[in-house]
Amino acid sequence: MIVAKQKPFETIYGMVAPNKRIMLAGCGSCVTVCFAGGEKEVGILASLLRMRAQKDRKDLDVVEATIKRQCDVEFIDELKPKLDGVEAILSIGCGAGVQYIAERFGKTIVLPGLDTTFLGVTEAMGVWTERCQGCGDCKLHLTAGVCPIARCSKSLLNGPCGGSMNGKCEVSADTPCGWQLIVDRMEALGILDRYEQITPANDWTASRDGGPRRIDREDLHEIK
Ligand code: SF4
Ligand code: SF4
Repeated sequence: MIVAKQKPFETIYGMVAPNKRIMLAGCGSCVTVCFAGGEKEVGILASLLRMRAQKDRKDLDVVEATIKRQCDVEFIDELKPKLDGVEAILSIGCGAGVQYIAERFGKTIVLPGLDTTFLGVTEAMGVWTERCQGCGDCKLHLTAGVCPIARCSKSLLNGPCGGSMNGKCEVSADTPCGWQLIVDRMEALGILDRYEQITPANDWTASRDGGPRRIDREDLHEIK
């Protein structure tokens, strides 16, 4: 899932404060799972914004709306009936959601309430960690299912840098060395000989280096 966290409250308040009526838009997908931008967070943040505005003796009307996904037009359009008089939409969806809402409602200011961070997993309640950088040329079949790009701090494809200590990365004692994880798993799978083989360089044109990416599946075009 996409993992994100809320911006500091004062930053959010500073963005919305110039407006008299805003919509606070949540998203029911990834950011709900990571407790950053779902219906519950919309309710809490809306209350905090109202209280803060009241304290400042300022008019601030907050319209609450959470849709299933902010990255799909059909759901974004559900916001339309609630937009009367709204000067700005504060989205607490991921960066894709914020931008897609902005594209859909060209005449309304759209503000980001979250900092979108990575593609990751829930390791424990309240703990999320990165697993994938969306490189577009997946190498997991060559690295025993552990991503060398997302989980090695230097994104090394062919073995460790030599800086790890006790299985931890040299960047931080809290960060497992990605290559230690790869070697351990190869060992557990009985495929340690794979470690001797050279992993070819990534096709970075399939990553961000090739500019904004697009997937166009013609076989799906006709499906309603
Ligand atoms: S190799 Fe690329 S696509 Fe595969 S998990 Fe790593 S970053 Fe993601
Ligand atoms: S210590 Fe491990 S994870 Fe950190 S940069 Fe070196 S090989 Fe990569």
